Amino acid sequence: MNKGFTVWFTGLSGAGKTTISHLLEKKLKEWGRNVEILDGDVTRTNLCQGLGFSKHDRDTNIQRIAFVCKLLTRNGVAVISTAISPHREARDKARKEIGNFVEVYVKCPLEVCAERDVKGLYKKAMKGDIQGFVGISDPYEEPLNPELVVETNSETVEESTKKIIKKLIELNYLNPKGSFTHVYSPEEEAKIRERLSRLGYI
Ligand code: ADP
Repeated sequence: MNKGFTVWFTGLSGAGKTTISHLLEKKLKEWGRNVEILDGDVTRTNLCQGLGFSKHDRDTNIQRIAFVCKLLTRNGVAVISTAISPHREARDKARKEIGNFVEVYVKCPLEVCAERDVKGLYKKAMKGDIQGFVGISDPYEEPLNPELVVETNSETVEESTKKIIKKLIELNYLNPKGSFTHVYSPEEEAKIRERLSRLGYI
């Protein structure tokens, strides 16, 4: 069985967690991995439905997501979580619960996130129409010792994703020397190896 792991993104709304998660998913599938994304917005509408945005509810939100990440991780899945997860303590608890935990701080200055305003939420929060918005009226606690920081204000999505893949190799969660033959035909495998080699992974 493949070694499971959870890439745990944390960062402000609009920092780029969802965008990077989609490219990362595509890349991990090319490595022959089964991938699950726990998208923070999606889990809010099912697994975590009914929870609000108080500190207690935010931490319960993270606890539930971490529980599912744990189940998947121990079964060899490559898991990606994209919840904002603003509280350090809640992230540290998730780290303990999951074990194979790769914390990636998706870093982007608040003013850039507010300017991107992907969902129009910053405008509302700055007008006072949303209470307790992370970065505006609720705290965001930066990670002190994440496995990786990606800076989406100065890196492309491709660059950030490549950094994450390299980190996963370094941490032994992806093995470039492993065989892909259980997933791909020999022809496909040769093509993948050629591309990985061109990109400098192997
Ligand atoms: P989050 O999931 O963190 O709330 P999103 O991924 O939904 O953020 O939104 C990030 C926005 O920033 C998208 O519109 C994306 O196209 C844009 N963006 C610009 N540069 C980058 C980058 N280097 N990495 C990720 N997103 C970027």
